[in-house]
Amino acid sequence: MPDFPVIDTDVLVIGAGGAGLRAAIEASAHGVRVAVVTKSLLGKAHTVMAEGGVAAALANVDDRDNWRVHFADTMRGGQYLNNWRMAEHHAKESPERVRELEAWGAVFDRTADGRILQRNFGGHRYPRLAHVGDRTGLEMIRTLQDHGIHRGMDVYMEHTIVTLLTDDGRVAGALGYDRERGRFKVFQARAVVMATGGLGRAFRITSNSWEYTGDGYALAYDAGAALQDMEFIQFHPTGMVWPPSVQGILVTEGVRGEGGILLNKEGRRFMFDDIPENYRTQTADDEEEGWRYTQGDKNARRPPELLTRDHVARCINREVKAGRGSPHGGVFLDIAWIKKRLPNGADHIRRKLPSMYHQFKQLADLDITDVPMEVGPTTHYTMGGIRVDGDTQMSTLPGLFAAGEAAAGLHGANRLGGNSLSDLIVFGKRAGEYAAEYAKTTPPARLDDGQVTRATARALAPFDRGSSGENPYAIQHDLQAMMQDLVGIVRQEAEMAQALEALRSLGERAGRAGIAGNREYNNGWHTAIDLPNLLMVSEAIARAGIERKESRGAHFREDHPAKSEEYSGFNLVIRKAADGGMTLERVPIPPLPAELAQVIQENT
Ligand SMILES: Cc1cc2nc3c(=O)[nH]c(=O)nc-3n(C[C@H](O)[C@H](O)[C@H](O)COP(=O)(O)OP(=O)(O)OC[C@H]3O[C@@H](n4cnc5c(N)ncnc54)[C@H](O)[C@@H]3O)c2cc1C
Repeated sequence: MPDFPVIDTDVLVIGAGGAGLRAAIEASAHGVRVAVVTKSLLGKAHTVMAEGGVAAALANVDDRDNWRVHFADTMRGGQYLNNWRMAEHHAKESPERVRELEAWGAVFDRTADGRILQRNFGGHRYPRLAHVGDRTGLEMIRTLQDHGIHRGMDVYMEHTIVTLLTDDGRVAGALGYDRERGRFKVFQARAVVMATGGLGRAFRITSNSWEYTGDGYALAYDAGAALQDMEFIQFHPTGMVWPPSVQGILVTEGVRGEGGILLNKEGRRFMFDDIPENYRTQTADDEEEGWRYTQGDKNARRPPELLTRDHVARCINREVKAGRGSPHGGVFLDIAWIKKRLPNGADHIRRKLPSMYHQFKQLADLDITDVPMEVGPTTHYTMGGIRVDGDTQMSTLPGLFAAGEAAAGLHGANRLGGNSLSDLIVFGKRAGEYAAEYAKTTPPARLDDGQVTRATARALAPFDRGSSGENPYAIQHDLQAMMQDLVGIVRQEAEMAQALEALRSLGERAGRAGIAGNREYNNGWHTAIDLPNLLMVSEAIARAGIERKESRGAHFREDHPAKSEEYSGFNLVIRKAADGGMTLERVPIPPLPAELAQVIQENT
């Protein structure tokens, strides 16, 4: 074994977002030693950026809501490719998890009678998102962090895991480096929870920050775990499009939940032009009814701006392509118009959407209480990920668990807004609990010197090539541009095949990546280390995208624009073959139990 520090723990949690922290809290509560590793600073994970809210059928604002409606909404949104067991746990357990956050100190917005306030969001039948203005993630991460530290866990900030270590077909720990000094550490663990979030940085326009290079998916895949549904990448309909330096930054769906409307350059409210058949009975007939819905009228139905994200994103795309877009290639999102309806409209906007108000004021010099925003689709969320058991969250690699955006299953072909934050706390808890049980009942695994030596040699190779090697930033930039153009919001077989070709040559370039300087805070080096992960997940997206010859949820094929019955009953499962190649398999989804089928039927 090279002479690296070895941290010995029971449960290693990789990632300190909502899922990782909730898992750490639960594992710690089960009496095992817990170490949490995070690529950035504690408190900086994506979860902190979440704006709109956390979905839970608390029924505080509309007493018709309950787990059955939430379950049916989630399944319909996911186009029935969801792991129904996870969707059931999620709908049943999220209210309890939200109340628990409150008990741990989270201060949610309140109804007039002092209960947790809930707001409307796309695809949710009733107002369901518990929120703190448009800074819900901040409150959630603050609460989980405080509680986690209090409960007991060791935190390794600014440490990046570069490989999972295995022993005879089970997980044994991980190898990582610290950003500050560039030195390696070995984490020996009986169980590992992967909670590394998403992969938005595989695309040029994204709401995701620098950390989200798909590491968790690639680490799990390389160690032998299966991934699934990688074709389903969510393009959130409303990201900023101007100025160019802020392109992709998210504009929360909460804006539409509060009454914001989408307009093309002709001033037409184009979302009324295309309402999918399976949502027709739940959608407002006219603008008046849509407005009443956003103001809490229980007899009104949702405006079409609150249809699912995949649909809204495609409608925006259509307007832009047809030449009816805004000056900078988006459409207009207007919340200022509510001043015509609410006497204190400007104050209301500033109070309900403070971050959005400041975001546009500071980044675009625009007052959203006066003028519409320009918005367009941005790569936002990964529905696919590590394949897990719906009860325990264990992956197909014994001892490796996954939760949050790193795991697949709950959201099927498309995630409803707010269902991620609830996913984190429901399945973070489950992953922590079962990882702790696994750690208690399993003997320690053996560390393999060879694996550690090979992984460090791979990670350090860019230094050997020095500045005469390929620039890693240029490779990353070209990969992002290529994925945006060829595997983006509207897909075709020929273009995705071209993407696979391009990935082969980008892979060769990544093999020649070189960097100068030393190991302390060397961003070029970190980018070179991230590249194989970006390449792996991009290949998975393109291969799965080619294989699914239909349009469903977030996956839209211009050459197969309809949904196909043939593709309705399976998940696409991806594994690394013995020769290092990528295999794809259609794995049937187990039939829905009669009781859950009934729940869906009752709620259509
Ligand atoms: C702007 C924005 C707004 C959003 N708003 C909402 C909303 O209102 N409601 C909602 O439900 N969802 C929302 N989402 C989605 C939601 O925030 C995320 O899906 C969710 O927070 C992911 O949580 P997570 O715990 O899975 O991972 P994250 O919070 O993404 O955390 C991942 C962690 O893994 C670490 N990590 C990654 N790779 C490595 C590695 N190699 N080694 C060590 N550590 C690693 C990171 O440093 C980080 O600590 C929003 C997302 C964004 C970007």
